[in-house]
Amino acid sequence: MPSDANPKTAPGDPKRSALEKSPEDIFECRQCGECCNGYGGTYITPKDIAAIAEFIGSDPDRFVTEYCQMSGSRPVLAVGENGYCLFWKNKICTIHPVKPRMCRAWPFLESVVADPNNWRIMSSMCPGIRTDASNAEIIRCVRRVVESRRETE
Ligand code: SF4
Ligand code: SF4
Repeated sequence: MPSDANPKTAPGDPKRSALEKSPEDIFECRQCGECCNGYGGTYITPKDIAAIAEFIGSDPDRFVTEYCQMSGSRPVLAVGENGYCLFWKNKICTIHPVKPRMCRAWPFLESVVADPNNWRIMSSMCPGIRTDASNAEIIRCVRRVVESRRETE
């Protein structure tokens, strides 16, 4: 899920003091596609399903049947034989304008605010995540992005 390059909280964010880390200080997507590889990671919401189905000219039920697998009772994007998300082609996300919330949010996730160790775990599979900030700095920065995102959802 190559991340959007410009998280909602920009360096000039008036809510950020000069001493605090900006999103760009702690994360820069390398467009490597590693986060699009592997089964079961990408949960999709009903809103995601409606948006993606419309984008690819399908309908929600058909989209779920043809492009999703079930993880417990929840649909996740299916992966192809190469192990990558079905929408990862020629090293780009082919549904970028409507990619799932989870892909858009990465790696600024609520779970990191709850436990910054998740940031360090996530860094083992995402080379764009920097780990040279303190836990407190990571929490403050990720929280600002999460709160800013909530205001627009
Ligand atoms: S929807 Fe796009 S960004 Fe998300 S996992 Fe699939 S290819 Fe990656
Ligand atoms: S694994 Fe990280 S650096 Fe690589 S594409 Fe995904 S978000 Fe970007």
